[in-house]
Amino acid sequence: MAQAQAHPHDHDVLDVIIIGSGISGIGCAAHLRRDRPEKTWCILEMRDDLGGTWDLFRYPGIRSDSDLYTFSYDFKPWNSDNAIAGAAEIKRYIAETADEYDIRRQIRFRRKVTACAWDSTEGLWTVTTTRGDDGMVETWRGRWIFSATGYYDYDKGYRPAFPEEEKFAGPIIHPQHWPEDLDYTGKRIAVIGSGATAVTLLPALAEKAAHVVQVQRTPSYVMPMPQRDGLLTLARLLPSRDLTHRLMRKKNIVQRHVFWLLCQRYPKMMRALIRKINRANLPQDFPIDIHFNPPYGPWQQRLCAVPEGDLYKSLSSGKTSIVTGHIDKFVADGIAMKSGEVVAADIIVTATGLNLKMAGGVAYTVDGKPVVWSDHAIFRGMLLDGIPNFALCIGYTTSSWTLKVGLLCKYFCQLLGEMDRRGKAICIPQRPAGGMTLKPLLDFGAGYVQRSIGSLPKQGDGYPWMMTFSYGGDVKMMKRSSVILPEMKLYDAPAAPAHRPAPA
Ligand SMILES: Cc1cc2nc3c(=O)[nH]c(=O)nc-3n(C[C@H](O)[C@H](O)[C@H](O)COP(=O)(O)OP(=O)(O)OC[C@H]3O[C@@H](n4cnc5c(N)ncnc54)[C@H](O)[C@@H]3O)c2cc1C
Repeated sequence: MAQAQAHPHDHDVLDVIIIGSGISGIGCAAHLRRDRPEKTWCILEMRDDLGGTWDLFRYPGIRSDSDLYTFSYDFKPWNSDNAIAGAAEIKRYIAETADEYDIRRQIRFRRKVTACAWDSTEGLWTVTTTRGDDGMVETWRGRWIFSATGYYDYDKGYRPAFPEEEKFAGPIIHPQHWPEDLDYTGKRIAVIGSGATAVTLLPALAEKAAHVVQVQRTPSYVMPMPQRDGLLTLARLLPSRDLTHRLMRKKNIVQRHVFWLLCQRYPKMMRALIRKINRANLPQDFPIDIHFNPPYGPWQQRLCAVPEGDLYKSLSSGKTSIVTGHIDKFVADGIAMKSGEVVAADIIVTATGLNLKMAGGVAYTVDGKPVVWSDHAIFRGMLLDGIPNFALCIGYTTSSWTLKVGLLCKYFCQLLGEMDRRGKAICIPQRPAGGMTLKPLLDFGAGYVQRSIGSLPKQGDGYPWMMTFSYGGDVKMMKRSSVILPEMKLYDAPAAPAHRPAPA
């Protein structure tokens, strides 16, 4: 690829550079349009289109496992009948938001951000991108960075090596890289994995395949969920779509939170309840104790929701089945288990998960010094100590990611407004002088989190240095605390002019 150098935007210093045009990046842009219309900003996006996760993943059946009333934005009603939605429908909703708020023309597609360098003498970030089509390197300058790059590596899914996989005669496919032309009609498919992707794939593939087997080492918690929310008909009687959305959203926030709380407080009782629901949905002789018996408590890892119990239906019909155990090796026509059983397959799908990637893999520096994320602590769930004018967008992992992102975007806009009011240009959170006890950022058992937890920023043991996971608690906190806390050091803009002359 050509490595032409260009600095086409040196003369434009933007107030905010948003990285990523997934649901979070578009959400941030919409919040800026609504709450801080005077601010200038752009979105840098490495892909050809917006939507992030909902544009990338193309495997059969791809859908949310959160309800869309909580996954959607609070300012834009989710009008569909589907509480659980497919990728295409979610992407359409994100695109509609981008159009309603005239965001699209501010997105610079095919720009992979490779580096962000803060210069204190200018009080600015210089962001370097490489253009996807011709490899052109460009730079962009902004006062703030809002990093909305999601949490995983877009280039490569997590794919452990299996013994003797070269002996398998058929294709081995990772759901993150699903070949659009794959014809699996009448084929026998083995899906390795036990997370949301595996339980989505099983019934979806079974529509055309001869048989689909889920090969799992460790079972997950699975719960049925109605495709259409029971309250919707009643909620639609309200006089506006906005009110319907608000009611549905509130109900689901409370319902999910109560369920999560019960799982934390009474894990044994909730485990028994989930077991009972599984039993009621499966044939009498189905070995639930083997295939639906996770060795951890409910919600210690993400719980898999299956709309209309589609997984149970496909298992009950015999179109799909589950094998729980350890894989010994791949053989020419399938997978040999350590138990001696051979799972016959023409295609193997490795639904083995994601690789976590912090801040889109971008190399950050502050005054020439590389940022080591694990040296920094999160502040108000978004800022990092010692890093100027930088917002990191990480959502909830135990309820809809976007519920938290909405709060972060609101707070981000408030912060920009308050800094303007005080005539300040730079904000850097500073850790307490006496230090504080640091903990991992996420207390979540999922494999992709545990594999990379050491490379993530840390959290302290109390607000505002804590990563919170309660929407209700966060809303209360936002209302009660002032926008600027004493730990946030504010500085004037540097005396040197931020604007360079426009190129001739
Ligand atoms: C299959 C699947 C299903 C999921 N279902 C749910 C669910 O039901 N509920 C839930 O809460 N969460 C779910 N998640 C998690 C989901 O990723 C988030 O909830 C949400 O979509 C993340 O949105 P985001 O905008 O923060 O990040 P993403 O959707 O990941 O978007 C990030 C964007 O940043 C861009 N980007 C990244 N790095 C760079 C870079 N260096 N330069 C330029 N651009 C960059 C990417 O191209 C992408 O467009 C799911 C995840 C997966 C993989």
